[in-house]
Amino acid sequence: MPTPLFSLTPDELHASLETHGQKKYRTTQILEWAYKKHAASYDEMTNLPANLRETLAAEHPIQNLTLSQKTGSADTTQKFLFRLHDGRYVETVLIPASVSFHGARADRRTACISSQVGCAYGCKFCASGLAGFTRNLTAAEIVEQVIQIERISGDRVDNLVFMGMGEPLANLKNLTRAIEILNSHWGLEIGARHITVSTSGLAPQIKKLAELPQQIRLAISLHGATDAVRDQIMPVNSKYPLDTLFDALQVWAGARKQKITFEYILIAGINDRPEDATALAARARLMGNRAKVNLIPYNKVEGLQWERPSEGRQESFLEQLKASGVVATLRREKGHDIDAACGQLRLKQETAEGTIVEAA
Ligand code: SAH
Ligand code: SF4
Repeated sequence: MPTPLFSLTPDELHASLETHGQKKYRTTQILEWAYKKHAASYDEMTNLPANLRETLAAEHPIQNLTLSQKTGSADTTQKFLFRLHDGRYVETVLIPASVSFHGARADRRTACISSQVGCAYGCKFCASGLAGFTRNLTAAEIVEQVIQIERISGDRVDNLVFMGMGEPLANLKNLTRAIEILNSHWGLEIGARHITVSTSGLAPQIKKLAELPQQIRLAISLHGATDAVRDQIMPVNSKYPLDTLFDALQVWAGARKQKITFEYILIAGINDRPEDATALAARARLMGNRAKVNLIPYNKVEGLQWERPSEGRQESFLEQLKASGVVATLRREKGHDIDAACGQLRLKQETAEGTIVEAA
């Protein structure tokens, strides 16, 4: 069974090369070609002997995603739909430096990457949840999304958010391996502080992630500050209610210095009342000065009934939070409604091909 190159650590690659009588410097050469020069095939690795290139292509394939669709241009948000070896699709979004995304710093090129095909968590407002869960992405499929968009766009990615399709913490093993490869000096060298993992609140996995040596950032998809509201829109809350989630966040905060981002989609009539802002401020205060709230006006998803509140209502929600001393931002840009795109391109494609299995 071939193991894709982008899932191997240097030690593993070396062990494999050794079985073919190769010396250690070959590992260094191959990693350089793959991660620094973005070679798309072993044929480009001109300093390797031809027979070794053939062996590697058979044992450690380098290109496993095929670009199926690309929308947008270099100075706008670009969306990439990739076809996987089993005919499934994932999407990756590249946000240029001029656009801010989920509060990501505006001077960076941010990639929004997927961790699973579909999602099992079934949040009531989300396109990825709508179609149910198909499978985890491998570490190589996670890493290759970044490599491919760097190769296609000809530019480096310097900020990564796991806010595409899927629940990254439900794929913890592959996620942590991918983070190692994305962050390490022999890999893509993306700074750990520029990697954000977003989760709907898988409390035990948050505690495990806190043990990771890399100083990555955490974002929590809160969307409701009381169990009553959260239960209504996020089924995960029945398994890990808010108190359980916040216990895990205390563990995270004990192990890290960075702020925790709370993502809060504003949905009209569901979580945008003054009492919701009061409850949110109280929750944020539990984290002391470590909490940062990102308010995101809901992006309409075809087939779902939810709507975003009026701009006035969004602003007063923000003002109420700020008046309670909470660090909060509201995404106001128009024409950059890309969040909803995470999950939607793939949904359209697979629906058209009839490969989507409806969630029960
Ligand atoms: N499963 C993870 C990461 C992927 S979702 C998580 O839930 O955190 C990335 C973010 O997009 C989450 O905060 C999610 O709640 C949000 N999101 C999903 N659907 C959305 C929509 N229609 N409008 C705005 N944000 C949405
Ligand atoms: Fe899954 Fe996140 Fe969408 Fe919820 S918001 S269904 S956890 S991808």
